[in-house]
Amino acid sequence: MRKIIMALILSLSLLTVMPGLASPVANITNNEIIIEFPETATFRATFTDNVNITLVVLEYGNEQQTCGEVIAKAFPQFTPGKTVKAEWTWEMRQSGSLPPGARLWWRWHVIDANGKETVSETKTATWLDDVHAWKTMNNGDFLRLHWYEGDQIFAIDLAKAAYNGLQFNETQSGLKADAPIDVYVYASTDDLKDAILYEPSWTGGQAFPDQDIVILGISESDLDWGRDAMVHELTHVLVGHLTFSCIGDVPTWLNEGLAVYSEGKLDTPSQRQLEDATRDDTLLSVRSLSGSFSEVSDKAYLSYSQSYSITKFLIETYGQDRMTALLLALRDGTTIDDALVQTYGFNIEGLEAAWRQAIGAQPRPVPAQPTAQATPTYVPTIIPVSGAPLAQQSTPTVIPTSSFDSTAGTEMPARTGPPLGLSLVLLGICCVMLSLIGVLILGVIVSRQNRTDGKNG
Ligand SMILES: [Zn+2]
Repeated sequence: MRKIIMALILSLSLLTVMPGLASPVANITNNEIIIEFPETATFRATFTDNVNITLVVLEYGNEQQTCGEVIAKAFPQFTPGKTVKAEWTWEMRQSGSLPPGARLWWRWHVIDANGKETVSETKTATWLDDVHAWKTMNNGDFLRLHWYEGDQIFAIDLAKAAYNGLQFNETQSGLKADAPIDVYVYASTDDLKDAILYEPSWTGGQAFPDQDIVILGISESDLDWGRDAMVHELTHVLVGHLTFSCIGDVPTWLNEGLAVYSEGKLDTPSQRQLEDATRDDTLLSVRSLSGSFSEVSDKAYLSYSQSYSITKFLIETYGQDRMTALLLALRDGTTIDDALVQTYGFNIEGLEAAWRQAIGAQPRPVPAQPTAQATPTYVPTIIPVSGAPLAQQSTPTVIPTSSFDSTAGTEMPARTGPPLGLSLVLLGICCVMLSLIGVLILGVIVSRQNRTDGKNG
């Protein structure tokens, strides 16, 4: 018995001593990140080893869907020794800014004079300001609403709208959330702008599907607009997720059409504009809506309204299963023409013909006779709403237009008053900016890696 006890004690003491006897690995302490939002994130840590530390490498990034594995590395400068402090700063102005709420991660590789390498645990932090007292409210499994101004009722109202939007997308469009989406609600568009490094061409909101993030500037007086904008941007996240791939491309009319469709219906001025264009035979060609939308305000609005109408026609005539099939075909790299043929049996021109017929528009190409006929417009899928004329009203925010390639959307100028205006703006913008930012960040990471590699290695 005593032997057993002795053996136990011995092995216990060996266990205790072992780490000392074994060749030591570096000890990492004070491993932290200092966020100076929205400018920089500084990573730093202290490393100690029994022998000199000769190399410290920082691996870092932000969590998002990407095409292929690209890990950014940085090589902080330090004086070799048994205890070293290393620090490296991620300059967002150089890399392209990340959205508020982005999840940063990092880890250290430490190599000592014996060639032994120690890798720290991977740590994460949320890229967000500490100026606002952020509060969080969950609604269901897939929505986290973050806000700092306005009471619970304000937040509950928005969270409900968001939840209903997700439900609508799931039941009506076949778009299902598969990961929690973080929505950051700023109290105003000015606050929102302060959170973004680059002066955006939009002011209302933006979606970042690759990171499951939506940002919006909603004041308590803009709640009507805010609800629609929320749902619109969430829809972009859902579409982005379902169709994410490195080869696919979703035409703008479809991406924006789904987003506007999720808002419920067109506002009165947009509805009227669409009816006028239908009656006057001034509808834009569907093919022209595949890329960037026009920067001319009226045309931009019509682009959103038409996108809505076309998408609504597809979903309500052929069902959500086919819509899902169409999106998946696009994700897999099928061209829009081929994807349409596979799914519906017609290409873009065929779609245009069917849609025009459904809404009572004249066939394309335009017949020889002049178009101006006073035939009443009938829009089967849309319930016409009588109401305010197409007059401009004042909008909480004005969103200039910008255009990008077809991957990205375009946000349009804000129409005023009615919710759709702003939302539209957001919509386009969001999509566009999303893709753009994704590409930017990836590019920056790659170039940064090249740069750091070149400088240090
Ligand atoms: Zn959009």
